Amino acid sequence: MKGYPGPIQQVVDNFRKLPGIGAKSAERLAFSLLKRRREDAVKLSDAIREMAVNIGYCEQCRNYTEGNRCNICSDTGRDKQLFCVVEQPEDVLAIERAGEYNGLYFILHGSISPLDGLGPEELGLEKLERLIEQLEVREIIIATNPNVAGEATAIYIARRLKGKPVRVSRIALGIPAGGNIGYADEVTMLRALEGRTRIILE
Ligand SMILES: [Zn+2]
Repeated sequence: MKGYPGPIQQVVDNFRKLPGIGAKSAERLAFSLLKRRREDAVKLSDAIREMAVNIGYCEQCRNYTEGNRCNICSDTGRDKQLFCVVEQPEDVLAIERAGEYNGLYFILHGSISPLDGLGPEELGLEKLERLIEQLEVREIIIATNPNVAGEATAIYIARRLKGKPVRVSRIALGIPAGGNIGYADEVTMLRALEGRTRIILE
């Protein structure tokens, strides 16, 4: 679609690159920024820049953080021998909201997907194995999503860790099959964690 001044078109084009934003939504967002106080649009743009420049990955769990290590990994009150493996940073928030989990996390930033070029290396599995040794981790709870890719990833990790002195468990199916951990409510998440079962491979 043409006809906007260049600067508007640029904002529309950039919004359209975001997930879930179509042409109409992109236009609506751009115009709503123009209709509000202009300082708010500048603030938003500053906040996005700040985030893009200053947020990196935690050296231990691979979650987003400002420093080298995230708040959770730096928290001395947490159980360092219990790890929960999740696909995305937002899954950490869902589990934290449930309020009961006191271990650490490991973020894969995806699930095993050869077609997308996501293999064990991209998911950081060697790093996870090193952590398990270094911290003498006693249990790994795999909380990948209950869909085909998430289940395949869970089994793959369990296979890799087989024979190591660490218990590998999978969260219970309180999360609907095909669902997403990041959207689970507190009660469902709590039940899924409490009802976790050990993965036993032949
Ligand atoms: Zn961390």
